[in-house]
Amino acid sequence: MKRILLPLFCTAFFATTLQAQITDPKATEVWEPQPPVVTPGENDKAPSDAIVLFDGTNLDAFKSYKDGGKASWDVADGAMTVKPQSGDIVTKKEFGDFQLHLEFRTPVVVKGEGQGRGNSGIFLQDRYEIQLLDCYQNKTYANGQLGAIYKQTIPLANPARKPGEWQTYDILFTAPRFNNDGILVAPARVTALINGVVVQLNTEIKGATEYIGLPSYKAHFKGPIRLQDHGDLVSFRNIWIREL
Ligand code: MG
Repeated sequence: MKRILLPLFCTAFFATTLQAQITDPKATEVWEPQPPVVTPGENDKAPSDAIVLFDGTNLDAFKSYKDGGKASWDVADGAMTVKPQSGDIVTKKEFGDFQLHLEFRTPVVVKGEGQGRGNSGIFLQDRYEIQLLDCYQNKTYANGQLGAIYKQTIPLANPARKPGEWQTYDILFTAPRFNNDGILVAPARVTALINGVVVQLNTEIKGATEYIGLPSYKAHFKGPIRLQDHGDLVSFRNIWIREL
């Protein structure tokens, strides 16, 4: 017991002594490094240091997931819309830790139910899906609804707006860490807000998204952002990302 108590006592004693010696408030000020100045955007537009992935005019930042060719979703009126059967689209650039902003709109003409209604999704680093679904008065399995880490973690809330209304999605992602042998040393984590409401808070991602079966990790480096073609006419606009 003495062996445990003595070091504890010493640590507390020295911390208290050190605390007593600090009399100048300046002693605990840290001046360097200064954070970089970032000019925020107006109305959720991209901050000055963001990479704009979609500004409403073209899909140049994306390619087809199927064949790496040109992304062929429809672009009109400042928005891009899933072209069913054309497949997912994926950013040309790859990312590690990031802050992602996008706006989405599920079809105003409501068709189907559950997972068959206004379904898309955002695959972080190409493999971890955070769900995008029309969840306005549309019940489905809880770990598959809007804001879920698909088939892993139920969102903290359902802040869905009505079909046809624009909604915001903000995602803070910490990439998983692997050692040189490819062993996972820290899982990916994600915080997400939909329409300003927190749906995931520092949630641990359990591995790559699986439709059937359990998720697992495979070592990887950076990865792109992939948007899902689930056959529904989901639209996107104002997409930007900040690498952290
Ligand atoms: Mg989906």
